[in-house]
Amino acid sequence: MSRFIDSTFQNLFERREFQMVTSFDIGGSFIRYAHPSARGPVEETGRVPTPLHSWSEFVEALRKCLPETRGPAVISLAGAFDAQTGIADVANIPCLNGRPIASDLTKELGTPVEIINDADAFALAEAVEGSGAGKETVFAIILGSGVGGGLVHNGSLVSGRGGIAGEWGHGPVVDPTAGGTISGIPHFLCGCGQIGCLDAYGSARGLEKIHAALHNTLCSSIEITTAWHAGEPQAARTIDAFTTILARALSMVINLLGPDVIPVSGGLSADARLLAEIDRKTRAITLANYSEPLLVRGVFSRTGGLQGASIHARRAFPNKFSS
Ligand SMILES: [Zn+2]
Repeated sequence: MSRFIDSTFQNLFERREFQMVTSFDIGGSFIRYAHPSARGPVEETGRVPTPLHSWSEFVEALRKCLPETRGPAVISLAGAFDAQTGIADVANIPCLNGRPIASDLTKELGTPVEIINDADAFALAEAVEGSGAGKETVFAIILGSGVGGGLVHNGSLVSGRGGIAGEWGHGPVVDPTAGGTISGIPHFLCGCGQIGCLDAYGSARGLEKIHAALHNTLCSSIEITTAWHAGEPQAARTIDAFTTILARALSMVINLLGPDVIPVSGGLSADARLLAEIDRKTRAITLANYSEPLLVRGVFSRTGGLQGASIHARRAFPNKFSS
């Protein structure tokens, strides 16, 4: 009998010791997951489609990605997430909207679950293992369907009140005339309800709206950048306005934060020439002198969510990783 009890406790002990941590990157199309080790970049283990409308299907999808030993999980989520209330604002995944996701998932899955915003995850990944490794201040930005950002100082994420530190895409500061040098671009209403947010100008959708305002033509962001590369004058005027407006906003953030590097992810970061143009215009108007490019495409521009969630998991659940 005592041997049975001993072996049962031994089994429980081993299960606890060898519980595998799971990191998730949840986007509007796929749930990607990985089982990180104690250090180094993580490899994606697999992916499943994201259930958008059913909470129970969403929970079930995550459950299937967990290992048999069901260790804790960290989720990178594309959307605003209030670290204090726990409530998520995830417009593209309606079944998560307005829900305290971390606490609800902890209950449903029976294991601790933590959430990290995708821009914060990308910033952490770049600061610890990417282009910002060893640097003091890393301000990572996302230029994609929206404008996002995350700030890491000395390897630690700066979350700020409500978890919004680094979110430079919102705040009514954009002058669409760029000091009277651009005409034809109106004030755009942002999805947050304000007028003048960079999110409405510096994102891929912003690029399309600027092009439509200047030329009365609807084109996708890819069509606009492709035409610009081909030397088409209307697209060139759009890109000139877009990069000017973006650089003016970014210069103020740089003066505020003094970053050593700005890793970039998001769909627009794949265009090296566009990134170089934003970088050139930005560095020309910052107070500090940056002789080398400041904006660089992130090492983890495609995998920052999974990588950052894994780094967060190592810090949040250190006893789950053998050193
Ligand atoms: Zn806004």
